[in-house]
Amino acid sequence: MKRPRILLTNDDGIRAPGLAALAEAMEALGEIVIIAPSEEMSATGHAVSVNKLHTLQPVHRAGRLFGHAFDGWPADCVKFAIGRWLETPPDLVASGINLGPNLGTNVPYSGTVAAAVEAAMLGVPGIAVSTERPAPGRTADFGPAARIAAQLARDVLQRGIAPGVALNVNVPLVPESEIRGWRVAPQGCSRIRDLFEPAGEDEKGSPIWSNRGFEFLPSPNGGETDDWALAQGYVAITPIGYDMTAYGQMEEWRKRISGK
Ligand code: MN
Repeated sequence: MKRPRILLTNDDGIRAPGLAALAEAMEALGEIVIIAPSEEMSATGHAVSVNKLHTLQPVHRAGRLFGHAFDGWPADCVKFAIGRWLETPPDLVASGINLGPNLGTNVPYSGTVAAAVEAAMLGVPGIAVSTERPAPGRTADFGPAARIAAQLARDVLQRGIAPGVALNVNVPLVPESEIRGWRVAPQGCSRIRDLFEPAGEDEKGSPIWSNRGFEFLPSPNGGETDDWALAQGYVAITPIGYDMTAYGQMEEWRKRISGK
């Protein structure tokens, strides 16, 4: 079997430590190609650029080429890498490791997840990996999430993944021995509530509002959702797609429009 090629990207920017940890863990699995946003692009969702010029700059780490910084959104990086930069599509796209979980209603906001979904749209298996945020003043250990990402990647490289499907993976930020196991969990309806506060006025006297604070609201109705699994200390794995059709509502709407 030929050595697989793995494209890595993220939304925290090419210099984020989570990407370096992911690259280190994935190196044993194949040839690594990194194209990631030149700056942090968190919470930019599945944004793409239209009619824009993009710079592409080599980035070195520890004296060798690490990857290329592309000044675009995370999905742009994947579109450019697969559509133009690489002569043949990669065998896998892995995105992350994001600093901060991507759960529930936050998933559509996530650039990390969007990059993996973009890969799925282009017919390449995609994995998005995120880990919890450390307590203020602490740094995150990306090691456990990186090793789990590599284990999943090995499986995906061997057995593939259904067309149009990507994996959204959230890993607890605890020592590896404290991870309770892996759970396949549906996307819940946890959400982030922004705490808007007045923050003075601009020079023209218009009010300024700050949303620097936020509150995490877990899925309200119980059930073994992605946020539940993560909070319980499990690795939460959610197979996701880009088809937003609410299949359970198809019949209802066929009835409502009957005769039209
Ligand atoms: Mn991010």
